[in-house]
Amino acid sequence: MHFTDPVYRNPYWPTWPLIQITQSCTHNRCEFCTMYKGIPFRMQPMEWIEQDLKEIAATDPHAKTIQLLSANPLVMSYDNLMPRLELIRKYLPDLEYMYTATRVSDLKDKTVEQLRNLRDIGLKEISLGVESGDDWTLERIHKGYHANDIIEQCRKLTEAGIDFWMSFLNGVAGKEHSHDHAVNSAKIFSQCKPMLVGTGGLTLFPGTPLLEEAQRGEFAPLSEKEMLIELKTFVENLTCDCRFITHHTVSGKNLTGPNFLKRKDSIVAALEHEIEHGDMDAMAAIRRNKRSL
Ligand code: SF4
Repeated sequence: MHFTDPVYRNPYWPTWPLIQITQSCTHNRCEFCTMYKGIPFRMQPMEWIEQDLKEIAATDPHAKTIQLLSANPLVMSYDNLMPRLELIRKYLPDLEYMYTATRVSDLKDKTVEQLRNLRDIGLKEISLGVESGDDWTLERIHKGYHANDIIEQCRKLTEAGIDFWMSFLNGVAGKEHSHDHAVNSAKIFSQCKPMLVGTGGLTLFPGTPLLEEAQRGEFAPLSEKEMLIELKTFVENLTCDCRFITHHTVSGKNLTGPNFLKRKDSIVAALEHEIEHGDMDAMAAIRRNKRSL
């Protein structure tokens, strides 16, 4: 198989099969991310994809799902992407779901009709690491698009019938803009109506511009308690029904699951309890030991 390290896959999807369609990330500028630093972007050659598909088909000829890697395969033009997806279907005819992560900006050059064609060939789920719906924050972290772009591209996905996930990066606006980041993200996410909302907490990894800015006093990271307060504000303001995933395990209670609106009050109550009684030192220690996003 032709994989380039690091191989990042969605942990909520089957671990196999995976296939690399592109290498690295075309953007590589987000202030909190070192995932693909120093790794050039490249479209995977068709011959490599075909060799990998032969390997997958030899061991798993009736595969029902496949995850496309790496950071943003949909940056490819429709004309480059479609033949690759057709090749996947040729080798895995029983496939029902293709999944990929991608950037909001990758969807701009695709029409609804093209997105519908991609869906019809099997691309039924996309994950958008939007991180925030707040324009100040999106600019601050160099995400490369604005809230209006998120709304417009998600509208196209909805029209095309492609399900999508959206992620909220808790803490990424720092102390200065925490409240607006939470409220405005919840507003934009609610408007877009994703099938799933995921939240992760900011960790300042070595090599990230945001860590260097924090060391120079130009970025004020949230404490663990402030992270929880921001997450609670986001949850309180989120009004779309969806599956909700958070990596916070609060007082032994797993907050992840479907039917967000039915569970919203209990999630808020659990967060409130943790804000008052949680072991912030233990949470900080867990964060310090994290090695990747
Ligand atoms: S967060 Fe995603 S889009 Fe941003 S640099 Fe990292 S991989 Fe690329």
